[in-house]
Amino acid sequence: MVFDNKKKYLCMLAPSFVSVYDYPNLIYRLRALGFDKVVEVTFGAKMTNINYYEILKNQTDRTWIASPCPTLVNIVKVKYPHLIPNLVPVHSPMGSMALIAKVHFPEHIRVFVGPCFTKKLEAEEIKSVDEVLTFKELDTIFKENNIPEQITDSRYHLTFDKLYNDYTKVYPLSGGLSSTLQYNKILNKKDILVTDGMQNILKVLDGFKDGFYKNYKFLDILSCEGGCINGPGIEYIYPIKERIKRVKKYRNFASRYEKDLGKSGKKIDAQGIDFSRKF
Ligand code: SF4
Repeated sequence: MVFDNKKKYLCMLAPSFVSVYDYPNLIYRLRALGFDKVVEVTFGAKMTNINYYEILKNQTDRTWIASPCPTLVNIVKVKYPHLIPNLVPVHSPMGSMALIAKVHFPEHIRVFVGPCFTKKLEAEEIKSVDEVLTFKELDTIFKENNIPEQITDSRYHLTFDKLYNDYTKVYPLSGGLSSTLQYNKILNKKDILVTDGMQNILKVLDGFKDGFYKNYKFLDILSCEGGCINGPGIEYIYPIKERIKRVKKYRNFASRYEKDLGKSGKKIDAQGIDFSRKF
């Protein structure tokens, strides 16, 4: 990706970034690279959750399958087309965030940066994301542009722009979606199946009968083992246990210190946006 200095660029950063990069240094590096705005996809995840909640509450005629993982969505489309109606018809956090960013930063080119190659397919389908970069591709771009590993120049010392949420920072962990759904009034724990990894999800998809998978109401499933912190677009530095720890540590840090900076995403910032999606 080449930055055109006549244009403005907005980075939509996946919360899995912290499994490999340090916060806030990565945000400084993105600004030094040429991003004028940097937002975290966690606010999109919050809006995705709110829309999931409504569907799970009101439509109980099938077992719903979480749809933020484009690899899983494509497997369903190709191998299990009879299960397309079971995919929750709501945008992923990336898709939701892009719709929100379109309203707040209409002039900017929207670039999603994350751990996943198949997000490029999703971006082509939904049209609201202009470009997708994996973390591996970002590393290459940093090198090509001589962006140092540590940014000392204080001109770039700005953290996220607003539109931010703290609790959905665990979304890239397996089970992160359901653990942040606040479903207590509509579902029991036993109604939800959390699993990950290709073999496990294929077993589950094979086991559907007449629109239901056993007695489950919702499947929070992801194709990468352990979730998006183990995505194919990450150059791994830390073992998986350490990546999980880093995500949780960052969530705890943000919920204690970042809210004070007035960064917490508010539903009013997404008012009037339709987050529904067709498959
Ligand atoms: S689980 Fe893997 S394939 Fe699915 S969205 Fe996350 S990184 Fe991408």
